[in-house]
Parts: sequence; structure tokens; C-alpha cells
Amino acid sequence: MYNDIMMPDRCSFCKGKLVKGKTEFVVRVENEVLAIKDVSAYICQECGEAYYTHEISEKIDNIVTKFHNSTLLVHPLAAGELSFKEVIA
Ligand SMILES: [Zn+2]
Repeated sequence: MYNDIMMPDRCSFCKGKLVKGKTEFVVRVENEVLAIKDVSAYICQECGEAYYTHEISEKIDNIVTKFHNSTLLVHPLAAGELSFKEVIA
């Protein structure tokens, strides 16, 4: 589903340099698309592939599980978009 790494260094696809930044994580949960904004990631400067640390991956898993169980309320106007900061707070 996503790249789960401990210490990112180089992109495993193109060997491009990875730069720490923020990305939008989009996951499909059944028939819904959940987009989580402002997720910390290491992003390849060459191809744009995003890598997530184990810690972030676990948090994403948590969010997806909550979303799946409908325990996480998504504001309808936000079209399934969540701020990563909000949901882990
Ligand atoms: Zn790359």
C-alpha cells in the first residue's frame, strides 16, 4: 500500500535523493477515497515517490482503521480530506 522504511536515503525506484517534506496520502477504503494532508514523508526529488517512516505508517494505519470503522467523522464539505495533524492530536 505504501513504502514503509526506517531510515530513508535513496529512492528504491530511481535512486533519486529523498528530501524530508509533507505530502498528501491518498488511500482507498472500500468505495471511499480518503486523503490525509500534511503527512510527513521523504519525497524523491526525481520521481516524486513518497516514503514514510514506520512511525508515520502506523499512524496512517490507525487513521485508515478509524475511517474504516466509521469512528472518525469526516466533514462532508472537505470531501474526505483530513489534516494529519488534526487526526493524530
Ligand atoms: Zn525516485
